[in-house]
Amino acid sequence: MQIGGLQEFSLVDYPEHYSCVVSLTGCNWRCPWCRATDFVLPEISKRAGKISEKRILDFLKQKQNILEAVVISGGEPTIHKDLPKLCSNIKKLKYKVKLDTNGSNPEMLNNLITNNLVDYIALDIKAPKAKYPLVIGFKGSLANYLIDNVEKSINLLKQNNVPYEFTTTFSPQLTRKDVLQIAHWIRPAKKYRLQLCHIQDQDEEQETQAHRTLFSIQQAITPFFDECDIR
Ligand code: SF4
Repeated sequence: MQIGGLQEFSLVDYPEHYSCVVSLTGCNWRCPWCRATDFVLPEISKRAGKISEKRILDFLKQKQNILEAVVISGGEPTIHKDLPKLCSNIKKLKYKVKLDTNGSNPEMLNNLITNNLVDYIALDIKAPKAKYPLVIGFKGSLANYLIDNVEKSINLLKQNNVPYEFTTTFSPQLTRKDVLQIAHWIRPAKKYRLQLCHIQDQDEEQETQAHRTLFSIQQAITPFFDECDIR
């Protein structure tokens, strides 16, 4: 496992808890709007410094009076076989653990849930089923396999008691209809969070229009979820 980043403090990444964010390097997908390319693309992440697990754990020992939770993000954390060990070491220090995932590895999610190694999971839904191959850049049987895995992860979260949220970034690849289709796919669910994709060089009018569209989507799909918000 390579740890590529440590954001020492966050008020927004773990609901209702002061957290830090640990970013693991590497991802099995290549989403076009990815904002974490520092932790995804090998040519970039190789140049970035490595942070040892010991340094992370030492940092957490020092911050036990301030921080309450650790968000494990990426990249895609579930590609790392030693993720359960990292979660376990963090939980031994009495921190809550949140996992950000693309849902491609339901076996790892099941392992973490079964062994009480996560307290919150955010699963990013990239597109409606039919559009997933286009958005994540895979075709044919591999795309079908990955979509099946995402669906298994969705069902796993809905069947378990670990708090979770589904999220979707309203990227330029998605239309209003796409997000409505996603909502119909994952409904009913506890929490669905929509977020705007921040695009470089987007003018104010385009951004306002994207906000309006997202707001109208939220109004249409709110009845499907216990909670539906925009971040
Ligand atoms: S799954 Fe997440 S980290 Fe990986 S490429 Fe897509 S947006 Fe980036």
